[in-house]
Amino acid sequence: MRIVSGIQTTGNLHLGNYLGAIKQWVAMQDALAPGEDAFFFLADLHALTVTLDPKLLADTTIEMAATLLAAGIDQDRAVLFNQARVPEHSELCWILGGTARMGWLNRMTQWKDKAGKNREGASVGLFTYPVLQAADVLVYRATHVPVGEDQKQHLELARDIATKFNTDFEVDLFPLPAPLVSQAAPRIMSLRDGTAKMSKSDPSDMSRINLIDADDAIAQKFRKARTDAEPLPDSFDALGERVEARNLVTVYAALADRSPQSVVEEFAGQGFGSFKPALADLAIAVLGPIRERLVRLLDDRTMVGAELAKGAAKARAVAAPTLRAAQEAVGLQV
Ligand code: ATP
Ligand code: MG
Repeated sequence: MRIVSGIQTTGNLHLGNYLGAIKQWVAMQDALAPGEDAFFFLADLHALTVTLDPKLLADTTIEMAATLLAAGIDQDRAVLFNQARVPEHSELCWILGGTARMGWLNRMTQWKDKAGKNREGASVGLFTYPVLQAADVLVYRATHVPVGEDQKQHLELARDIATKFNTDFEVDLFPLPAPLVSQAAPRIMSLRDGTAKMSKSDPSDMSRINLIDADDAIAQKFRKARTDAEPLPDSFDALGERVEARNLVTVYAALADRSPQSVVEEFAGQGFGSFKPALADLAIAVLGPIRERLVRLLDDRTMVGAELAKGAAKARAVAAPTLRAAQEAVGLQV
């Protein structure tokens, strides 16, 4: 098993990213058997499709790397790097651009959503983004890719590209990467609106818990989180359409590694006046130590950059032979 996963460097990480992605990465890393490996990267090249601020991109890359290290990604067990330091991603992307079809990319819902009505004004990178994503995975000949609901279509495309490449050039170069769907990964909603996803691009900072937030900010954000006036029932299903209540229970359960059902049973009959402080205490207990490590790492940004370079060297050692084989397959003289 070889796992490959990336996260776009478009902002500071929050509780949704932690519970929905990073915590799963750490668990996957910790569960690797001998001979298995995991590559985790910061997708700074992907960020170029939406970001135009060089200083912000540079800072965000280091800050996100520090956050991943603080959360438990360990260079001795997994490989952590930034995409730009491994040029094989871009080179393979260009080769795969000859394989991918316009019609395939035109069908990507993320392209349609993000470009909106202004297709003529969208960047070319935003359109070809899924081809780079295919290269990200195929360049390591990955067998498994952790994906959220929103990325399933792109992984399917990577499989189509791999299949067509293998067939067209009569090689057996790319294994078809399988989705790794974690049962434990919850979808965390905004603290201001239970129908919207918690997200780094939400303009309201009160909508999310950032992993860099101080304890009192965490407590304040949960205190002010939108809820209803009803007490908690004794079954999670009975929460029905109470989206904000469901979300806070889901957050509590994920932080405590418990089932949402066991959480509502514990708090049955109580209102949010008592549930919210308990939730804040739990969040502070889990996130506080991560923030403290993060703050220390941010004091030594050079060291964080050096960690990324170290990971990139390991990644290149695996990516280079795949690129070479792809170049040979298509007849490039290099
Ligand atoms: P943006 O608003 O820029 O899209 P984001 O907060 O959605 O940012 P992404 O970089 O798109 O973050 O996602 C990084 C990872 O975190 C992905 O694996 C994604 O599935 C996961 N993730 C993002 N938001 C949530 C959330 N609210 N709940 C659970 N997982 C999330
Ligand atoms: Mg997103």
